[in-house]
Amino acid sequence: MDPIALARNYAAVKASLPLHISLVAVSKTRTVEEIQALYDLGHRDFGENYPQELKEKQPLLPGDIRWHFIGHLQRNKVKYILPFVHLVHSVDSESLLDELQKRASTLGRTLDILLQVHIAQEETKHGFSPGELEDLLTRWELVQRDHIRVRGLMGMASLTEDQNRIRSEMDGLFTIFRTVREKGTFDPVTFSILSMGMSGDVEVAVAAGSTLVRIGTAIFGARRG
Ligand SMILES: *Cc1c(COP(=O)(O)O)cnc(C)c1O
Repeated sequence: MDPIALARNYAAVKASLPLHISLVAVSKTRTVEEIQALYDLGHRDFGENYPQELKEKQPLLPGDIRWHFIGHLQRNKVKYILPFVHLVHSVDSESLLDELQKRASTLGRTLDILLQVHIAQEETKHGFSPGELEDLLTRWELVQRDHIRVRGLMGMASLTEDQNRIRSEMDGLFTIFRTVREKGTFDPVTFSILSMGMSGDVEVAVAAGSTLVRIGTAIFGARRG
């Protein structure tokens, strides 16, 4: 995309967000040049969905980019991204937690993650159901992993025009987030990220209590293909 349009979009997105909201620029399918152009405007947090794509782009871009992994992550792909990934938003099963722990331990690092919660009515979205999350956290003392640090929750609302439905799904996720914080399973200083909101529903997400939004289209334009 043309760099002037990119700068204009980026400025508009930044201006629309309250200062306390973190912005991850979702760069799946974007070229290294497009990502570099946003980096040159000062942006450092980028989100990717596909391990192979991220693995290929990462070495071609500056080393101080914070890479957020936001797509569904298969266990056999963890190794591609674990050496450098900053935050995995999309942890949606205990078997994935096990694999992340194993790889992080081998690398001698502590990995920051978010637990993904399934809040949409669509079947296609991943994540723990609210009941599964509650069950996991009840057993957390037993299942906790010493190389994993749970920083918060991530969720995606239904892809719909129905603003009331989006709002109620996001309010629901915020309530879960607040409840987990109050429960004290995690240190509330560490457990402080609610990753919620994309280009189409960012305003609702911010109003509902999101602390981090993941924006692709509104910055880079419509994705090709
Ligand atoms: C693609 C994607 C986004 C960004 O979506 P836009 O509509 O382009 O802003 C955010 N979160 C996840 C999990 C995504 O897959």
